Amino acid sequence: MAPRSKSAAKNRSQPQVIRAITPLRAWVSRTRGKGQTVALVPTMGALHAGHLALVRLAQRRADRVVVSIFVNPAQFAPNEDFGSYPRTWDADVLALSQLQVDAIWAPSVATMYPDSFATKIAPGGPAQAGLEDKFRPHFFGGVCTVVAKLLLQVTPDFTTFGEKDYQQFKVVTAMARDLDIPTRIVGLPTIREQDGLAMSSRNAYLSAGERAAAPTLHRVLTECAGRLKAGSPLAATLGEGEAQIESAGFAVDYLEARHAETLKPIQSLEEGPVRLLVAARLGRTRLIDNIGV
Ligand code: AMP
Repeated sequence: MAPRSKSAAKNRSQPQVIRAITPLRAWVSRTRGKGQTVALVPTMGALHAGHLALVRLAQRRADRVVVSIFVNPAQFAPNEDFGSYPRTWDADVLALSQLQVDAIWAPSVATMYPDSFATKIAPGGPAQAGLEDKFRPHFFGGVCTVVAKLLLQVTPDFTTFGEKDYQQFKVVTAMARDLDIPTRIVGLPTIREQDGLAMSSRNAYLSAGERAAAPTLHRVLTECAGRLKAGSPLAATLGEGEAQIESAGFAVDYLEARHAETLKPIQSLEEGPVRLLVAARLGRTRLIDNIGV
C-alpha cells in the first residue's frame, strides 16, 4: 500500500492546471458535489509572498482553492507594460504546488476575449474617486470586466483580494455587491519586504538604486499617518510628505487622504476612518501603496 499512498500524496500536491471553461465548470461542480466550498485567488502571476499569503487566507476560508493566473490585456493602456509584464509560469506552478493549491485556472487571451467579445463593465463610485482612475482611465473597467468573468466562471464562495491595491479592493467589492454576484470578498493587509516596500510583481523592474529608494513610499506614509494622529494639519502634512517622496527621486501622481470606505476626499481626521494612498513613478516603474491612519 505504501506506493499508493505515496502517489496519492504526490497527486495531492500537484494543482490541476485548467485552460478551458468546460473543464473548469466540471471541476467546480465535482467539488460542490462533494459538499466542498471553493475560494478563488485572482492573480496576474509573477507570484510573490503577497500572493501566497492570499492563497493561505483562501485555504483558511474554503475547502478547495483555485488560483487564476491571467495577465489581463483589458486593464493595460497601449502605452503600459502588458508586453513586458513579468511572466514566471514554472516558478508560479512550483510555489502553488508547495502550498497544495487544488487548481490553477490559466485561460488564454482568446478564451477570455474571443473575437466576438463586446461587453465591458463600467464601474462608478470608488472607481471614479480620482485616484488610480485619474492616471489609468481604462484600468477599473478592465479589472471589473475580467473579475466579473472570473467570478462567473468559478462561482467561488470566497474571493481574496489584497489591500495593497486598495482602490481596486473597494471597486471589486462594490461591483460584486451591485451585480449581486454571490461571493464573499475577503481583504488581506499588505505584505511587505523587511524594509517596508509593498511586495509587487513590478518591483522586479527596479534597478538597484531605485530599489534602495523605493521604501521611501511606505516610510513617508507611516510618518504622515503618525503626524496626522498627533494633530498636524492635513494639507501641510501631505504637502511635506509629497516633497520628501519627490526628493527621493520619485515623480508623484498623488498622495491623498481619503475616507477609507467611500474613498471620498476628507478635510480632517474627524471625517474618518481615513486611508492615505500614494502612487509615484520611479524611473519606468509606477508604484502604489496605502496605509490606514
Ligand atoms: P496582481 O497579480 O498584481 O494582479 O495581484 C493579485 C492579487 O494580489 C490582488 O488582489 C493584489 O491586491 C494582491 N497583492 C499584490 N501584492 C500584494 C501585497 N504586497 N500584499 C497583499 N496582497 C497583494
